[in-house]
Amino acid sequence: MSASTAPGPSDPSDPSDPRIVVVGSINADLSTRVARHPQPGETLHGTGGEVRPGGKGANQAAAAALQGGAVAMVGAVGDDAMASDALSVLSSSGADLSAVRTEEGPTGLAVVTVSDDGENTIVVVPGANASMNAARVRESTDLIAGAAVVVLQGEIPRDGIEEAARGTRGRLILNPAPVLELDRDVLLRADPLVVNEHEAALVLDLLEGDAGSSLAPEDLAHALRTAGIESLVITLGAEGALVGVSGADDDPRSDAAWSLVRVPAVRVRAVDTTGAGDAFVGSLAVRLAEGASLVDAARFATRVSAASVTREGAQTSYPRGGEELPGG
Ligand code: ATP
Repeated sequence: MSASTAPGPSDPSDPSDPRIVVVGSINADLSTRVARHPQPGETLHGTGGEVRPGGKGANQAAAAALQGGAVAMVGAVGDDAMASDALSVLSSSGADLSAVRTEEGPTGLAVVTVSDDGENTIVVVPGANASMNAARVRESTDLIAGAAVVVLQGEIPRDGIEEAARGTRGRLILNPAPVLELDRDVLLRADPLVVNEHEAALVLDLLEGDAGSSLAPEDLAHALRTAGIESLVITLGAEGALVGVSGADDDPRSDAAWSLVRVPAVRVRAVDTTGAGDAFVGSLAVRLAEGASLVDAARFATRVSAASVTREGAQTSYPRGGEELPGG
């Protein structure tokens, strides 16, 4: 990690080069538990207080690297003590962090409060993630252009996401969470778009000016396809995922008809679902970078994300390559 290191060009034919480049957020998550949420002006006792690594970008990069993917992270941390907490898993995951910059000021911070009834409140302070604008992302142009798979989320500035998407020459996994008003051409570069139901409706609204919040997942998928999305995954929590692909993705002999495939979740005893979506996206990237079909990659991702919900935390819950996964 350095403020001055510019990554060199990446040769996609060299397996030692990062095949997967994640451009996104890096946070420290401060988690507390309370019996109930405080009223404005009220002080309550809580428990917990652990600081864990988080941020959607870092979560997805860690999930991919822990599954053996050759991953490079493009992002930023602050020059404060939280930076090492934020990078604690990523730095031992095998991911290349030479394109993670240190900016003056605080590291991104998420303050999470979970009450006994399971409701949570989250305050996110972007910190160094706010520096990841188009100019910063452009410093990693060669790395991004050389990647087999680029993975983007919605936790850095919009122009940074758009710069990375437009600079992608390989496959773009776009997980617009949270959903920002990205340009249409950027949304249509997604292959696949990975969204939960709520995000799927918001993306449809951006593309068609038509709120899809009342639509069933299958109808949302068809509507997104009609709006021009090439391929997609709608994650459905404990219900698994819905994968939309052209026929050619799974069977090169078939015509390019659009098909929807339901991939069931692996049944496990869920302890904490935090970061399950990021485990899904990171492991999906690993298989897609290896050339798997989207349906096969999604089957693998449901197994990795199922493992993640059996343990506490996000990155701290992610399985390592070699660990036996549920649903085998
Ligand atoms: P988050 O923002 O909490 O990471 P998300 O809304 O992006 O979540 P989900 O759809 O909740 O993503 O979960 C992603 C994937 O994780 C699902 O498609 C599923 O494969 C797996 N998963 C989630 N919850 C469970 C569960 N209770 N049991 C098994 N698998 C689960």
